[in-house]
Amino acid sequence: MPGTSRMPVSLRESFNSVKKRRPQGNPLQVLNLDLFRNIVFFFFLLRWTRKVLWKLKGRGLLGTLVELYTDTRRILYGYFLRMPGVRTQVRKQVNEAIAKMQTKLVPANQTRYLTLPKEGWSEEEVRKELEALATMDHTRWEDGYVSGAVYHGEDELLKLQTEAYGKFTVANPIHPDVFPGVRKMEAEVVAMVLSLFNAPPGAAGVSTIGGTESILMACLAARQKGYAERGITEPEMILPETAHTAFRKAGEYFKIKVHLVACPAPAHQVDVRRVSRLINKNTVLLVGSAPNFPHGIIDDISALSRLALKRKIPLHVDCCLGSFLVPFLEKAGFETTPFDFRLKGVTTISCDTHKYGFAPKGNSTLLYRTQEHRAYQYFVDPSWSGGVYASPGMAGSRPGALIAACWASLMSVGESGYLRACEEIVGTAKKLVDRIRESSVLAAELEIIGNPLVSVVAFQARNLDIYDIADGMSAKGWHLNALQNPPAMHVAVTMPIAKVWERLASDLEEVIEMEREKERVRIAEGKKAKGKAEAGDNAALYGVAGSLPNKGVVVDLAKGFLDLCYKA
Ligand SMILES: *Cc1c(COP(=O)(O)O)cnc(C)c1O
Repeated sequence: MPGTSRMPVSLRESFNSVKKRRPQGNPLQVLNLDLFRNIVFFFFLLRWTRKVLWKLKGRGLLGTLVELYTDTRRILYGYFLRMPGVRTQVRKQVNEAIAKMQTKLVPANQTRYLTLPKEGWSEEEVRKELEALATMDHTRWEDGYVSGAVYHGEDELLKLQTEAYGKFTVANPIHPDVFPGVRKMEAEVVAMVLSLFNAPPGAAGVSTIGGTESILMACLAARQKGYAERGITEPEMILPETAHTAFRKAGEYFKIKVHLVACPAPAHQVDVRRVSRLINKNTVLLVGSAPNFPHGIIDDISALSRLALKRKIPLHVDCCLGSFLVPFLEKAGFETTPFDFRLKGVTTISCDTHKYGFAPKGNSTLLYRTQEHRAYQYFVDPSWSGGVYASPGMAGSRPGALIAACWASLMSVGESGYLRACEEIVGTAKKLVDRIRESSVLAAELEIIGNPLVSVVAFQARNLDIYDIADGMSAKGWHLNALQNPPAMHVAVTMPIAKVWERLASDLEEVIEMEREKERVRIAEGKKAKGKAEAGDNAALYGVAGSLPNKGVVVDLAKGFLDLCYKA
């Protein structure tokens, strides 16, 4: 009997029982079972061989071994952190750090409202309390002390936005017949942004509540498209490692495997040859940033576009941060690089109207080269007992008031206004770059990352610890961004910062001189490392915890932070 001896016991028994019942035996059936088993095994083997080959092709032998090594280290260190003695010690330190955060984030001496007031407050009382809340002790964005966050902030525009909001407070675009004005405004906002990015005829878009939702939807649509058109059931996407973490969030939410690709010095753009090597049959999306958040660098979108066209894979350009600056670089006379739909391989673009579009927070857009592609993000339920239901994105009901405020911002600033804003903001970023390269103190200590063409200037320290410099700036009232891998910090220039950038530069000089002095004293006293008490928040978070092979502790701290945000 061919094959029976190699059959697993249980299978063989059932086969024998079949055989007993049919004394004549059916040679076809024997063959079938054997064949079936072989086919299953063959596909299992093929699947894993293919995975290993893709990995080796994508990362190279050395890269694969390095990955294996870091994964092993991470896992082993994770076990170490969970060992009985270690765990209680780690827990204790995490709790201490969270308690320290709490004193800053949730001051103890405040009246708290934890239940509804028995009787509603008078308008006067509510207004008074709102005023107190708005003027709570805070980092002064109004005086230009905050990187990013508030991109415009001028009173006139704020007043107009508030008025627009007030007119449409009750509006919800899910009912276009009830709020036809909101439907019209939303469609027009999308159309205006499409035109800004040189969308071809037939292009389409949606508005969302923020860059993260735009990116989530772009990834979801790419996944659905890959499934519907190419039968991909194990989707993968390839990101620059500097791409916004919203893409990794999409990977987690929508079960899309993420491949990160290095952005090597000196350009700090994604290595397109490596992207190419990582493409396989399961790739549903390539990604480039224009520019990325950490370093403000625009990837080589032209090269990505050529690759996307050649391999017939969608390419998303994340212009969330670039928003209304990058489309104006050329007109403002600044150096620029291709980034929009004029590159034939670009299929989707995210653009945040609530960043340099100066709309209030809760506004972003996602643009599609074709209407068919956009339909992949739609959700339609024809059979719900609540009626036929259709919504374009994640949300059901949406705030029409925010759309109105966005529309009002775009119409009131206009092309000339955005051009002027681009000149001022990007112009300031260039001045800051020049100052860092020319001032003797700054040039000696800071090294600018790549060639920033837009509003973000990122730098590393040559000798000092960059996180000490970040903490020094915090002590002077600045809220700048600390970065990691590599250790660095950045400033995202906004309208408020443009007014005070010189003070920013001179404060940076002072902080660097101060840190150098501390370093000299430390060396003179024969101390090698900083004392624990000397480390500021950034130095503590990124200097110590950041260097661990397993970031479990950082995750615990960050979750504690999120919990605190909801502590009434
Ligand atoms: C801000 C930003 C995002 C995400 O936008 P949110 O509005 O914060 O959700 C995405 N990509 C880049 C490059 C960004 O700077």
